[in-house]
Amino acid sequence: MNDCVFCKIIKGEMPADKIYEDENYLAFLDITPINPGHTLLMPKKHYKNLYSLPNDVLNDMALLIKKIAVAVKQAVSADGINIGMNNEQAAGQIVPHVHFHVIPRFLNDGHRHWHGKQYPPNKSKEIAEQIKKFL
Ligand code: AMP
Ligand code: ZN
Repeated sequence: MNDCVFCKIIKGEMPADKIYEDENYLAFLDITPINPGHTLLMPKKHYKNLYSLPNDVLNDMALLIKKIAVAVKQAVSADGINIGMNNEQAAGQIVPHVHFHVIPRFLNDGHRHWHGKQYPPNKSKEIAEQIKKFL
């Protein structure tokens, strides 16, 4: 995609702190990290989000996420790692080129998880049944 910032980095038209590259995948440091070492992993081919990502690409990426997570944890002596993915605007996706976040975490680093809501009585059963219909 011509106006995609990640495609520009992949094509070498914009700079990035690359940490991993092969024929089909690229990982580089997020420019506004939650913590130092926060890495973005993506396929070089432009897909918008998870829904359109072919299964073989997702399989490859799962293995790379693990490889990168272990390396990032060691490199910055992280206490933990979050793996994240935002799909569509409502979920906070800003760059519409599918990517995973590998985020090093530290005890008491101040980054807060989302707050969970409570289900009204029996609602969770209804939702679970509804989801199962689409699997
Ligand atoms: P999101 O689409 O919300 O999953 O996240 C996109 C991420 O890309 C954000 O965390 C940005 O900080 C990051 N980002 C945007 N532009 C660049 C860039 N040129 N180099 C590195 N990271 C970037
Ligand atoms: Zn792109």
